[in-house]
Amino acid sequence: MLISCPICKNREKKILIWNKPIRSGKNIWTKKLHKIFWCTKCDLRFAQNFNYNLQDNKLFRKLYDGSNTVKKYKSFNKKREKFKLDKIKKILNFKNKIILESNCGAATNLDFLKREAKLTVGLDSDIYKDYVLKKHSFFNSIKKIRKEKLKFDIILSLAEIEHQTDVLKFIRDLKEILKKKGYLVFRIPNYNNVYLNLLGNKFLKYDFRTSHNYYFSEKSCDFLFQKMGLNTIYKNGLQEYSINHLIEFLKKGKRVKKYPEIIDKKVSNDISNNIEHNMISTSLIYILQKKRI
Ligand SMILES: [Zn+2]
Repeated sequence: MLISCPICKNREKKILIWNKPIRSGKNIWTKKLHKIFWCTKCDLRFAQNFNYNLQDNKLFRKLYDGSNTVKKYKSFNKKREKFKLDKIKKILNFKNKIILESNCGAATNLDFLKREAKLTVGLDSDIYKDYVLKKHSFFNSIKKIRKEKLKFDIILSLAEIEHQTDVLKFIRDLKEILKKKGYLVFRIPNYNNVYLNLLGNKFLKYDFRTSHNYYFSEKSCDFLFQKMGLNTIYKNGLQEYSINHLIEFLKKGKRVKKYPEIIDKKVSNDISNNIEHNMISTSLIYILQKKRI
């Protein structure tokens, strides 16, 4: 049977790039072989078999972060999220805006935005409900947001598009609750990053994982957003690890947790900026608006 590309629907221009075990948790791999394809028409990489369970953060975070509690979310994500948010805040003004964060977890980003925003709303699994509700509004589904007829000036989706099963529906749903002149912000892991280019399969061994159904590149993102009727207002790379992490990974040939500071912070930041500018960073940031019809 010919599988078609989930985004451009092409059936022919597809190459098998992986048929080995993939990562299935923090430091474990599947016993079974997993096939990953590359659609050469739109440049998307995608899993042959989508994982439908891991869209539930209750399961996903337990498996990949080790725990799904508020405490764990904060210790694991607070610094990482602040880094992403600070970059976005340089481009978008959140003052007096109605903001939704989809996949908000324990709402660390919404906490940072609370003071300047008009309204902060979180969307995630019910496991975070009580905690998020202390400071923000909360929903556990887009369907319920639609029912309330809430529309947003800014929607943040910073760690989830790659986990989706039906990415076209996911974007359509977000567009529906976005105001006419609102902004949709995605942070997307970048398949074509500097690690892959330097390390090849030694990197992919860690990168391909059961929780990701899609692996995007700049080209595949551009194709997807164009197809979905979205204008790209801004795009840039987001390099989430220091150059010293990359050096240690190169030296050891495997993913590392600790690494010495061979290059000082200033120089490392300059290099990261170049990596981001060239869109070969570990993630990409896209800020989009609905096309005017
Ligand atoms: Zn395609």
